[in-house]
Amino acid sequence: MADQLPSRSENFSEWYNTIVQKADLADYGAAKGTMIIKPYGYALWENIQAYLDKRFKKHGAKNAFFPTFIPSSFIEKEKDHVEGFAPNLWLVTAGGGEVLEEAYAVRPTSETTINNTVGKWIQSYRDLPLLLNLWNSCFRYEMRTRLFLRTSEFLWQEGHTFHATWDEADEYARAILFDAYQDFYVNAAAMPVIAGRKSEKEKFPGADITYTLEGLMGDGRALQSCTSHNLGHNFAKSFDIRYLNKNNELAYVASTSWGLSTRSIGGIVMTHGDDKGLLMPPRLAPTQIVIVPIYRKEEEAARVLEAANKIKNDLDDYRVELDAREGLTPGFKYNDWEMRGVPIRLEIGPKDIEKNQVVLVRRDTGEKKFVPIAHLLDEVKTMLNHIHDTLYARAKKFQDDNTFIVDSYDEFKERTAGEGGAGFLMAHWCGDRACEEAIQKETHATIRVIPFDYETEKGKCIRCGNESRGRVVFAKAY
Ligand SMILES: [Zn+2]
Repeated sequence: MADQLPSRSENFSEWYNTIVQKADLADYGAAKGTMIIKPYGYALWENIQAYLDKRFKKHGAKNAFFPTFIPSSFIEKEKDHVEGFAPNLWLVTAGGGEVLEEAYAVRPTSETTINNTVGKWIQSYRDLPLLLNLWNSCFRYEMRTRLFLRTSEFLWQEGHTFHATWDEADEYARAILFDAYQDFYVNAAAMPVIAGRKSEKEKFPGADITYTLEGLMGDGRALQSCTSHNLGHNFAKSFDIRYLNKNNELAYVASTSWGLSTRSIGGIVMTHGDDKGLLMPPRLAPTQIVIVPIYRKEEEAARVLEAANKIKNDLDDYRVELDAREGLTPGFKYNDWEMRGVPIRLEIGPKDIEKNQVVLVRRDTGEKKFVPIAHLLDEVKTMLNHIHDTLYARAKKFQDDNTFIVDSYDEFKERTAGEGGAGFLMAHWCGDRACEEAIQKETHATIRVIPFDYETEKGKCIRCGNESRGRVVFAKAY
């Protein structure tokens, strides 16, 4: 089975497309640009949801639902917003056989419809902060589709919060970035990320500041892994959302929005996978342990399966699958589950039963360990944590090995030449948008993130030679 996969190092893109479908994460939908998420992929998304939802709630956000259809006039109310989303907008122009008087935009994101509504909810400072989160899907017209990375409809969460002051909004946007998103990537997905903000060119249309986490994928391309926006007073002014403050004066609210999507699944695949297939980070893995019963003769089957079932019950706290499929060799099953990236394989046969032991095999290192059944729970717990740590350390080493300090535009062009990724390029930039656009045109690299520790070192812009206040992170990106 493994030999049917394209090589990850030789053809990353084909490897990705093959593994996403072969491991039953997703498939293409019938309508062009759409995606079907299969149960194995959806279980991964549910685990991502569960992890994040808890953290959003800890920060006071409450879940709600807003309609998919948005009067198209709403989208036009915020100038930058409409410009930013126009090229990807889907419109519904007819319903019930009649042409609609006003077309509906199919939610590309919900800022406009939420701002239109919450104006009625927010009257005084006592109504603030208002903290909402939506789990839904959104729709962006796409010419070129890649499963999880770019589809016309994708699943995500979008948070929308409203605060008394700009500073409070800013603090909240940063808190979500660090306490929810960065915590999720590091401690659940085992993915190192660089935190910071976007340039004016790359920020969200309608935001004052866009905060971001950027990851580096296995082919050296960057993936924007989530964003958190301080929208300042922009939407409040467009939708006239004012409240009576403590001095009994009318003031504009400040707002945030923040989102993480099923793109994160693409990120997990591209960060951890290898030539054998997927490699699921243990804390999110739909199946953490697969039990493969081993027997040669039919008369052994009942006894082995009984023991395997008992172990499955003992491991109740974990997500466990017992592969009791008949007529398949253990070797076939090993390859199949390795391809699906299950972190631990547990083998049990007649000899193990006699010795009161099982065999544990790690997906990340291939390491095999005989474990007495009496110690199984402790061993599984430790092993899953070790696998998480190993995956994170590997990904961090890859990121470090592929992060380059670049001080000449010749080297910059050399590193970004060709089809593949270029890693993270730490280079000085003057802060001028025209210069940023020229760099993109000439090299296909964009500024992914202006790190929080920017402005620790002055220098000269890589392209124009003007003063630079610090290094920013360039990359070729998904
Ligand atoms: Zn410049």
